[in-house]
Amino acid sequence: MKKKIISGFFFVIFLINISQPALAEEDFKIGDTVKCNVEVLNIRSEPSIKVNRVGKLKKDDIAIIKDGPVKKDGYTWYQINNQSNSGWVASKYLTLDIKKAKIKTYAFVDVDTKLMFRSKPSIKGRILSRLKNGTRVEVLDERVLSETHNWIKVKVKERIGYVSKHFLRFEDKLSQRNKRSEKQSTNMVKIKDIQLKLDKNTLETINILTSKSVDYKKYVLGQAQSKTKRIVLDFKKSEIEDNIIKKLKNYSYDKIWIGSLKGKEDVVRLVVTIRGNKKFNITDLDSKYGLQINFIKNKRETIIIDAGHGGLNTKSYNGHIGDSGTISPYTNKMEKDLVLSVSFKLKKSLENRGYNVVMTRTKDEYIDLYKRADIANNTNGDAFLSIHFNSSKNSSATGIETLYCPSNKKNEIKPKDQISFARVMQDTLSNKLNRRNRRLLKKPQYVILRETKMPAVLMELGFLTNKEDERLARNKTYQKRAAEAIADGLDKYFSK
Ligand SMILES: [Zn+2]
Repeated sequence: MKKKIISGFFFVIFLINISQPALAEEDFKIGDTVKCNVEVLNIRSEPSIKVNRVGKLKKDDIAIIKDGPVKKDGYTWYQINNQSNSGWVASKYLTLDIKKAKIKTYAFVDVDTKLMFRSKPSIKGRILSRLKNGTRVEVLDERVLSETHNWIKVKVKERIGYVSKHFLRFEDKLSQRNKRSEKQSTNMVKIKDIQLKLDKNTLETINILTSKSVDYKKYVLGQAQSKTKRIVLDFKKSEIEDNIIKKLKNYSYDKIWIGSLKGKEDVVRLVVTIRGNKKFNITDLDSKYGLQINFIKNKRETIIIDAGHGGLNTKSYNGHIGDSGTISPYTNKMEKDLVLSVSFKLKKSLENRGYNVVMTRTKDEYIDLYKRADIANNTNGDAFLSIHFNSSKNSSATGIETLYCPSNKKNEIKPKDQISFARVMQDTLSNKLNRRNRRLLKKPQYVILRETKMPAVLMELGFLTNKEDERLARNKTYQKRAAEAIADGLDKYFSK
């Protein structure tokens, strides 16, 4: 009997000693008393390293957990307060204060027959009940002394009384917490799962679920121009299960590899091979431990489509009279309407190809030329296309023309030569539409060509003053083919 008591007692001590350091990264519970384990710990107004400091804890300062945990900025945060401070701190710098921890302690009755449960800490106390071997009691106070026995104040089935300490076997005080702590005593983070989310056969996200917050290093291998890049994540002090490794081996889209590093068995490396232009970011998972790699949808360049002209010739738009552009001598169709129709078709074609599209106008209104350039420049776009139909006194004039601003390195207007862009667009359009490749024209005086910061062209898709060109201009199929040809030209220009 005595031997049992002693071994049980030592068991408790032993656990307290080994579990203290391992508790550093532990989950705390509201009401827990914690101790600061670093020289100075910042207290912040919110659970984030990006917000203001509202106070600090010094080493061994005591505080009470009020709220949490919240995972943010790579830390697990708890709201704490003490006499002088209140706010959020990172949990890795806190240690549970074992002495003041709000942990209920239990013990089991350990007798051959029955143990008297008395109203007072004395054999003279009234017997409240006789406790059977194995009855679990909640320990309220261990240090109730009397002349002859060491009495302990306990609670049994909501009744409070006293039993002799010698007939109790203590349940390890930290049992609930230590079930976790024992696992953590190796300090290894378990990579619990890797979840892949696909969207139309391309990876959208990779979730890496871990047993606790994990320290990792990120590398990106591959030159800016190279066709593939590798995201490498090294998880420190981590281990991974074989079934996850097997699961990823069967994965057939982008290449993903995971395993322990040779020579550094406690580092788990994840390698994701991605196509060169795919962008990504890495964030903490919201509600669980772990990370998420997000692949940003592969949006291509931003194109500004400028449907030429617009508005009624009799109406003023922000101080400018509306402008219908050329009016067909055959059908009275107006250029402003035809170019808007082509522009919408072009927008659809470009968006289908993954481009971002911004339009300077989407309805029949006049927009000032400087305003059009402003719209373009504010988008930080990659190319500007102004869509027009042509006119000539000579009704036999026919075909495609592209206007551009020549380079002027001296005053930094269009420092990059626009002719290569204009030539690609002109040639692609006239070839695909099988119309006359009429000419490239230098137009430095054109506001929209000169004031836009990106490569810019004005494309004349045919002559409304020519009978055949005018018929085609009104034809929806021709408009669609023209839109596709312009999109082809952009694809060609950007693939160079
Ligand atoms: Zn025009």
